[in-house]
Amino acid sequence: MMNTKGKIKIEDKVNEDMKLLDSFDSLFVARRGFVVKMPEKGASVVACLSGGMDSVANIAMLMKDYGLKVYPFFINRGQSNYAYEKKSADFFNSFFKKTFSELYNDYLEIKVMTPGEEYKDMLRDAKRMVDPLPLRHNVSYPARNPIMFLTGMEYAYSLKANGVDVKTIFASYVSSDSSYHCGLTNTRLMNILMCQIMNDWDWQFISVPTEREFGNFFDKDVYVKWGYDNNIPLHFSRTCVKGFDIECGDCPTCWDRRRGYKEASVNDPTSYKYDMSSEYPTYYDHEKEEKTQK
Ligand SMILES: [Zn+2]
Repeated sequence: MMNTKGKIKIEDKVNEDMKLLDSFDSLFVARRGFVVKMPEKGASVVACLSGGMDSVANIAMLMKDYGLKVYPFFINRGQSNYAYEKKSADFFNSFFKKTFSELYNDYLEIKVMTPGEEYKDMLRDAKRMVDPLPLRHNVSYPARNPIMFLTGMEYAYSLKANGVDVKTIFASYVSSDSSYHCGLTNTRLMNILMCQIMNDWDWQFISVPTEREFGNFFDKDVYVKWGYDNNIPLHFSRTCVKGFDIECGDCPTCWDRRRGYKEASVNDPTSYKYDMSSEYPTYYDHEKEEKTQK
């Protein structure tokens, strides 16, 4: 395990509920004797490939450091930057097939519209009404990740039809992710849901960077550094949520990406359309401002 503890503390995060998390963990211990554990080397697992830097680095790490056979899934969920995320997914699909030929399997593209197109505009408006800062509007739709990963769970289960037994799903949430659906509390809750609806408590839902069972709570910079050290060309991943052919460089997700490189002390080879605005130099500053506005 990486055992990299970052500067962000889980106890300080608004999207975590430590009491709830403790009780979820106790539930797992009671049910199966442990909370979560990494599958044995050579085991098959399912992981989300969004085309973003975290998911790409995560899949590479699962193969290189843990020797897991990865079955990635890519969700066509109606995202506005679909073509660019798909381009990244295709690039890394080829790269991983060459680099990890024994462990990597082609990703499956799955079409699941979320949020539903019928109310997407209304949902955006509703979020604007309750959130005075534009930061989060494009960052999270509340049911997006649960829907994506329940889909990933069904995909994992379906692989049984091909003789592949998978009961572990990987996300790649990092310590600075601020949405509720990215927190460890939510990850556990999702894991409980998976076990309950599959009627099988062997199912696991894990995000390595935020998995406190592994002693981890690290951020994007660890993925950046790891990718750099392991020759994974992470700069070909797609972070930006905007519709430009290259990264815009100045949306919150681009700030995160630039911050990741900066904090990792790795030269950022990404081509950006714009310089980063000096108004909000870091994601953390945004969070502080949001708190003071409440
Ligand atoms: Zn951007």
